[in-house]
Amino acid sequence: MSGGKLFDRVALIGLGLIGGSLGHAMKRRGIAGHVSGYARSATTRARALEIGFIDSAHETAAAAVADADLVIICTPVGALAEIAGDIEPALRKGAIVTDVGSVKVAVVRDVGPHIPDGVHFIPGHPIAGTEESGPDAGFAELFDGRWCILTPVPGADTHAVEKLTEFWTACGSNVDIMEPRHHDLVLAIVSHLPHIIAYNIVGTASDLETVTQSEVIKYSASGFRDFTRLAASDPTMWRDVCLNNREPILEMLARFSEDLTALQRAIRWGDGDVLFDLFTRTRAIRRSIIDAGQDSPMPNFGRNPTHAKPDGKDGQ
Ligand code: NAP
Repeated sequence: MSGGKLFDRVALIGLGLIGGSLGHAMKRRGIAGHVSGYARSATTRARALEIGFIDSAHETAAAAVADADLVIICTPVGALAEIAGDIEPALRKGAIVTDVGSVKVAVVRDVGPHIPDGVHFIPGHPIAGTEESGPDAGFAELFDGRWCILTPVPGADTHAVEKLTEFWTACGSNVDIMEPRHHDLVLAIVSHLPHIIAYNIVGTASDLETVTQSEVIKYSASGFRDFTRLAASDPTMWRDVCLNNREPILEMLARFSEDLTALQRAIRWGDGDVLFDLFTRTRAIRRSIIDAGQDSPMPNFGRNPTHAKPDGKDGQ
C-alpha cells in the first residue's frame, strides 16, 4: 500500500451504474492509487475514461486485472463465469477478488473454481442502486448509508475480509456478513419479488384492451407510476437474477400467490377487517424503513412537489 491508499491498484470489470459509482466513490476518498477498467464495448471503456472514474482502460479483462490488489467484477451475474475464466491466469498472488452481483450462491458456484491458490475470493452485494444503467449512471454517493453484504466462503482469509470491509466503509457503506444461501433468500423477498411483481403489473397494464395505453400513462400518478421505476430496471441484469436465484424466488412467489388469494377472498366477501388490518400492518413497515434511514421521510418519496398535488399526495 502506498501514500495512505487502501489499495495500490483496483480493477473494475464492468463500468456501468455500480462499477461507475465505485470508481467515483474511490476518487472521492482517494481509496486507490490507480483504477483500471474493462467493459465489453470500446464505447463504454472510452466513456468511463472520459468521465474520469477510471485511470486506464484495457481491451481485455485479463489486462485490466494484471497487478491489481483488488478486483471488483461489476457485470450482470450471467457473465461472471466467463470473466472469471478470462482473468484466472492474470490474477496476482495475494489479490482480493470480489463482485457486486445481486445473487450469491450462483456467483460462488461460477467464480469459485477459477480462483487460484493464494488469491482471496470474497463475494459481495451492495444494497444500493437505481433504475439507470451504463457508465453515465454512476455517482459517488450511491453507497452512502446503504448496506453492503459480504458472503465469504468457509475458510476465507480474515485479514482479506477485514480489508474489503474497510473498502466498503470508505465507499460510504455499512457492512454485514452473511452466508450466501441466506443472502439469496433475504434478497428474494426484499428485492427480487418486488421487481418481478413490478414487471408483471406493468406488463398487465400494457396488455389491457379495455383501458387504453394513453389512459394508463395519463393517470399513472394514482399508483402505477411507482411500479414503473422498478419495472424500468435493466432487463439483462434482471433476467440473470431470475435465472440464477430460481428456487428462493419461486418459494417467495408461492407465498405471495397464497397471500394474494387470501386478499382476493377478503375483497370478494367484503371482509373489511382483514383488509384494514393488513393495510395498517404494512403502513407500519414503511415507517420502520424511514426510521432506519433507508428512505426519505418526505411525502411522495421526496419527489419534486410541482409533480404532485399540493398536499403531497398523488391523485388516488
Ligand atoms: P450496468 O449499468 O448495465 O453495467 C454493466 C456493465 O457490465 C457494463 O459496463 C457492461 O459493458 C458490462 N458487461 C456486461 N456484460 C459483460 C461481459 N460479458 N463482459 C464484460 N463486461 C460486460 O449494470 P449495473 O446496474 O452496474 O449492474 C452490475 C451488477 O451489479 C449486476 O451483477 C447486478 O446484479 C449488480 N447490482 C445492481 C444493482 C442495481 O440497482 N443496478 C444494485 C446492486 C447490485 P457494456 O456497457 O460494454 O455492455
